[in-house]
Amino acid sequence: MVDADQTFVIVGGGLAGAKAAETLRAEGFTGRVILIGDERDHPYERPPLSKGYLLGKEDRDSVFVHEPGWYAQADVELHLGQTVVAIDRAAHTVRLGDGTVIRYDKLLLATGAEPRRLDVPGTDLAGVHHLRRLAHADRLRHVLAALGRDNGHLVIAGAGWIGLEVAAAAREYGAEVTVVEPEPSPLHAVLGPEVGQMFADLHAEHGVRFHFGARLTEIAGQDGMVLAARTDDGEEHPAHDVLAAIGAAPRTALAESAGLDLVDRADGGGIAVDATLRTSDPDIYAAGDVAAVQHPLFGTRLRVEHWANALNGGPAAARAMLGKDVTYDRVPYFFSDQYDVGLEYSGWAPPGAYDQVVIRGDAAKREFIAFWLSDGQVLAGMNVNVWDVTEAIQKLIRSDVRPDPEALADPSRPLTALLE
Ligand SMILES: Cc1cc2nc3c(=O)[nH]c(=O)nc-3n(C[C@H](O)[C@H](O)[C@H](O)COP(=O)(O)OP(=O)(O)OC[C@H]3O[C@@H](n4cnc5c(N)ncnc54)[C@H](O)[C@@H]3O)c2cc1C
Repeated sequence: MVDADQTFVIVGGGLAGAKAAETLRAEGFTGRVILIGDERDHPYERPPLSKGYLLGKEDRDSVFVHEPGWYAQADVELHLGQTVVAIDRAAHTVRLGDGTVIRYDKLLLATGAEPRRLDVPGTDLAGVHHLRRLAHADRLRHVLAALGRDNGHLVIAGAGWIGLEVAAAAREYGAEVTVVEPEPSPLHAVLGPEVGQMFADLHAEHGVRFHFGARLTEIAGQDGMVLAARTDDGEEHPAHDVLAAIGAAPRTALAESAGLDLVDRADGGGIAVDATLRTSDPDIYAAGDVAAVQHPLFGTRLRVEHWANALNGGPAAARAMLGKDVTYDRVPYFFSDQYDVGLEYSGWAPPGAYDQVVIRGDAAKREFIAFWLSDGQVLAGMNVNVWDVTEAIQKLIRSDVRPDPEALADPSRPLTALLE
């Protein structure tokens, strides 16, 4: 069949979906490209929602992946505010919530993730918030401004990236902030205790209170208003608003009901895809937050919930759908900004995977690179207020070299020299 007779359907109007559509056209695909998203907004990028946009420093227009007019120019058929409710794999069709049936030759699932909900009494109170969508950020902006004005209290459940970034924003607004976290340090599952503590210190210096080793058990309220947040060790924290920032769950329901192979939640969840981003159905691909990729470099299945993975994974899936030779083996990468600290993290080194942490630079001044090693090999590196080193860090991760830890810790030794 020639390109022009084919229809490629993309489910999910986020970064991965929008970039996949762009790539199909950039690669010269002349068939129909249909992008279906359940949000009413054009595809947008989420990182500003917990940073510049939340702080009112970046305007709404700046978050969109493409200008609204781009879709028509690129002949990408957009169905916004429409949910795909079923896939009929035998018939090669998807069904939308309004009953419309659309035939596909190839299908991309870029359905992303959704915030996990707190399963405790009080979560239905009006002052309990999540942060994933533009509308959530709009609401939270008003909430933080009001808390700042009235000296109000925000309790954040979860000291992960979103919890910490919102904590920083809330302090900038002048709100009182308490973060409740079951682990002993922030970002424990990503950075481990050694480097996680640095973030505890950073936020404590800015007036954030932490309650580690505790879980939220109840949000107490009256007449729909939040009054306090209680934890399993019997403590009660005053609260006017609560943010649940306890992670995100991949949106796999559609794939599951279509009988595609999934990954167990205990193993990170997601739609199982091979290194070409193809699912267990040869005509269906998955990319972005929802895809659990068999990663050639790390030899394990990885589901990466970060911007760069949507940015690069969408295009990689598009090329694979076009029959091009694709091996998706990028080193996982993300960035974060909190107060005056900016960082980039490359690699994959959860606690248990590494046996050594090497710090290069001045951790006290928060200008350093942290390396996580296993048996001398670099698994991950995070540069904090040190720039233009990502490429060298990723090369170290990809290489087989076991750099001398002393040289690795010495900022006067160029990273590139350690590759030899
Ligand atoms: C507040 C916030 C801050 C972040 N900050 C950073 C950061 O600083 N650095 C970083 O690296 N990453 C960050 N991330 C993560 C990054 O934004 C995500 O990894 C990225 O958005 C994933 O893109 P995606 O296209 O895979 O999924 P999504 O962006 O979730 O898009 C998926 C879309 O599909 C829609 N959809 C789902 N199911 C259906 C269906 N059945 N029918 C139709 N539409 C459907 C969803 O509603 C959504 O619009 C942040 C995320 C959030 C929420």
